[in-house]
Order: sequence, then structure tokens, then C-alpha cells
Amino acid sequence: MSELFEEQLEALHARSLHRKLREIGTAQGPAVRIVGRELINFSSNDYLGLAADPILRQAAIAAIAEFGVGAGASRLISGTQSPHVQLESTLAKWKGAPAAICFSSGYAAALGALPALASKQDVVILDKLCHASLIDGTRLSGATLRVFPHNHLGKLESHLEWARREHPDARVVIATESVFSMDGDRAPLQELVELKNRFEATLLIDEAHAVGVIGPHGRGLAAELGLEGEIEVQMGTLSKSLGVSGGYICGSRNLIDWLINRARSFIFSTAPPPALAAAATAAIRFLNSEEGDARRKLLWRRIVQFRKLLPDGGAAFGKPSAAIIPWMVGDERRALDLARALQQENFLVPAIRYPTVAKGAARLRITISAAHSALQIASLGEALGRLAKQATGARQEERPRLPGG
Ligand SMILES: *Cc1c(COP(=O)(O)O)cnc(C)c1O
Repeated sequence: MSELFEEQLEALHARSLHRKLREIGTAQGPAVRIVGRELINFSSNDYLGLAADPILRQAAIAAIAEFGVGAGASRLISGTQSPHVQLESTLAKWKGAPAAICFSSGYAAALGALPALASKQDVVILDKLCHASLIDGTRLSGATLRVFPHNHLGKLESHLEWARREHPDARVVIATESVFSMDGDRAPLQELVELKNRFEATLLIDEAHAVGVIGPHGRGLAAELGLEGEIEVQMGTLSKSLGVSGGYICGSRNLIDWLINRARSFIFSTAPPPALAAAATAAIRFLNSEEGDARRKLLWRRIVQFRKLLPDGGAAFGKPSAAIIPWMVGDERRALDLARALQQENFLVPAIRYPTVAKGAARLRITISAAHSALQIASLGEALGRLAKQATGARQEERPRLPGG
């Protein structure tokens, strides 16, 4: 008898789709150590370098001293401690929303929120490139799922017309990301708001990669465009720019009250450790400070510096829109080869493959952090340019570009 899953695993290897874990022996930062070797880290979502910042460490340590480690119970039983309450009020105030609710992860936030927003008789419409958490949350809701091509407002509009015609009494939810996690481009939020108003739909936006990077005090794309008051459900994570762990939803008092009563990933899971809530509160306070603004400006200087090093000065990308730069490769094996070659030169840049992106849309996903030095950025730009040129030869099509562009 063959070993369990042996054939399936072999098949993944054969298609260059097998994935494995790698152990990092250090804190997050612009350089990390992998099996004894130091690599310059261009793979993390810790865009502001907060994950190992002394401010967050101190906040967590002080909270451990006062509240211990485990929360002991779910939030509704006896797991709601002062750091959780403080985090939610700080979050709501920072996002300019009436209320906020926190979850153990961004994934749990989506899995809890979508089934609370929509059920079997309802319709959820997703952008094709939406994060897996939004897809899984929608599936769990049992609602009818419709998908529109990435940022395609015309197709979204026809789905909305269809939903209103075929399901006149349904709640219709549109869910999308404000900055797309694997592509680094932005959703047309103003137009989405107009459409959802016209069709009386509910809009959920996932600001995972916008928060900390975009908008006044890093409040995200909705805040940048002055649309916070127009978007019913603002989702995000505490685990990227904020450097901690956990997810959140901001919205009206009624929405948050409903989620407290209906979001199963919130109700049936032990509260996150209070120390993490305290660290996240410290991260938001930092973002709200002048120092936080300076850190974000530094991040944007690094992003602009890196893009200037790309072929044609990054012209193929349009305006800089995020800290995520996808170097499109296409072929899975090629992407792995390039990532390995970069690792040989001490750069940690992940090859992103199916199922995170479509088959044949493999890429290097480069993420820039305010913690990178100008020299680290320059050396990656140099190495990438050289490796791509070496390997390309006849393969002229391989260059950084926006997916679909
Ligand atoms: C990372 C991510 C999530 C999940 O957040 P976690 O806190 O890591 O669970 C959700 N949505 C998007 C777009 C993400 O990139």
C-alpha cells in the first residue's frame, strides 16, 4: 500500500507547486536568519518595522506582567479584559468609526463577519482577486456567490442588476480589498461606493495592506479618499503594518453589536492574549503620532527609491500605490529558480504560486519596509536587474508589470 498522499505530493513537486515551511531564527526585521544564514528580508508585511519595535515589546511585556498570558475564555464568557476594550475603542477612534470588534486573526474576522452579514437567501459579490479569507467566509455564509473580473466595474454592475432582479429581497454584499495583497494595486473605491449606493448594497472592504501605508495617520485607502463614512464594513488586520496579530471590523454600533452576537469565530474562540491587544493599541498610538507619520514617509521614500531601480524606472507600474511590488514571471519553476538565485545572493524574496495566485501567474512578491536601509534597497534592485537580464536572453516578455497589464 502506498504512503498516504504520496502520489498527490509527488504531483505537486512535478508541477513546481509544492510548498514547505522555512524556519526563521530571529525576530522579524529587514534582515532575518534562516538556518544560520542572514538574509535581507523582502518577504514580510511588517511594512513599518513595528513587529519587533521596542514600543510594542514594552507594551506586551507590561500587559503580561499585569494580565498574564492566556485570556482564559471566549470574549463573551470572561475573556474580555481591559486591553481588549482599550484596543477596540482606540481602533474605532483612529478609524473614525462608531465601533470596532477584534478577532484572533484577519482570517477569523472574515470567517466570522461574512456569514453574519449574509445567509442562504442573500448574494455576495467578490472581486476575482479577493483574499482566500473573503472567499471562505462567503462560502461559509451559504449565500449565492458572484465573482467579477479584477476591478471590473461594468461586470460588477451587471452582477448587481442580476441580484436585484432575481433576488429582490436579498441583502447584497460587495466585498473587495482596498490594496490587493499579491498585486499591490488599488480598488476604485469611489466608484464602488457609487455603485453600492445605487443598488442599495452593503460594502465590505479589506484594508489589510492599506492600513499603516496609506491615508492620514495610515488609516487606509477609505480615509485617504474621505469615504470612511460611506463604507459599512471596514475590515483589517493587526498583523501587517501594525506588527502584531489579530483582525478587526470597524462599523456602526449596530453592526458591531450584531457581530458580537452572530460572528461564530468571535463567539466560539478564546479571546486573543491580552498582551497582543496591548501591543496593538501601542502600534495604533504610534501610527497616530508624529513619529508614526515620519515612519510612513520613510516607507514611501523607500518604495519610490526601489521603483526607480526597476526597468524603465517602474513606468510599467503606473503611480506607486502600495508597498507590494509584484515581479511577474508566469511560469512556476522560473519563479522558484529566480527566488533561489536571489537567496544565493542573500535576499529573501518569495516566489508566489498557485493557489495564492492563478496557475501560470507566478511572481516574485517584493515587499518594502521602512526598516530597510537605502543600501539594502539598492542592492536588491541591482541583483534583480542583473538576474532577470542574465536569465531572460530571448525571453523579452519578463519584466515587472502590473498583472493583467
Ligand atoms: C493577511 C490577509 C488577511 C488575513 O489576516 P491575518 O491577520 O493574517 O489572518 C486577510 N485579508 C488580506 C487581504 C490579507 O492580506
